[in-house]
Amino acid sequence: MISLNPSHALVLLSGGQDSTTCLAWALDRFETVETIGFTYGQRHAVEIQCRADILAALKADSHWGPRLGEDHLVDVPALSAIGQTAMTSDAKIFIDESGLPTTFVPGRNLVFLTLASAVAYRRGCKNIVTGVCETDYSGYPDCRDDTIKALQVAVNNGLDARFTFHTPLMWVDKAKTWELAQSLGGQALVDLIIHKSHTCYLGDRSQLHPWGYGCGTCPACDLRANGWKRWRTSL
Ligand code: ZN
Repeated sequence: MISLNPSHALVLLSGGQDSTTCLAWALDRFETVETIGFTYGQRHAVEIQCRADILAALKADSHWGPRLGEDHLVDVPALSAIGQTAMTSDAKIFIDESGLPTTFVPGRNLVFLTLASAVAYRRGCKNIVTGVCETDYSGYPDCRDDTIKALQVAVNNGLDARFTFHTPLMWVDKAKTWELAQSLGGQALVDLIIHKSHTCYLGDRSQLHPWGYGCGTCPACDLRANGWKRWRTSL
């Protein structure tokens, strides 16, 4: 069995609020934290720029910067080639007959976590951190706790390894995600998430709201804005 470093983590960083909060969570716990992101023909490249800006800001932080290791950007063109989702084409965003939004990309998180495990294997990294959540989410079945646990077993069997998949936000709603950011990195981290992270499905960065940039009306903006309002009114 391969030997993995227990103080080394790899975080799946998309450039959104959840993955940015998970990156801070990992930087707070592990000595070395690497990041991985994926290009898959997303219809908006804005999140790729956002993740670069987030990494640059954290690198400049005197406490967290020294712990931040290599960033890996992996191209997965097969996901958009398979297509027919509102994340990789101009298809409309709505709930289809399966009960899932058309932004669902079948297999996406399964592929991402499997590829992240392959990178972690090469890097000798025991901990893999992902911001999936089934508390306050879009209903994606590959974000569910059971899916992640089952995949951890499959990956560990398939690679003869002992990775731990961490999901710090699994049982945390969007209000508590803001609260977690505040507790991890204070107002500086909350400000970084507001200004640098990106959640909006439409890729809109022309309008700045108290909770960040976005169209303000798509399902992703709705979740982020509602979480912000619930958090602010709870203070
Ligand atoms: Zn939006």
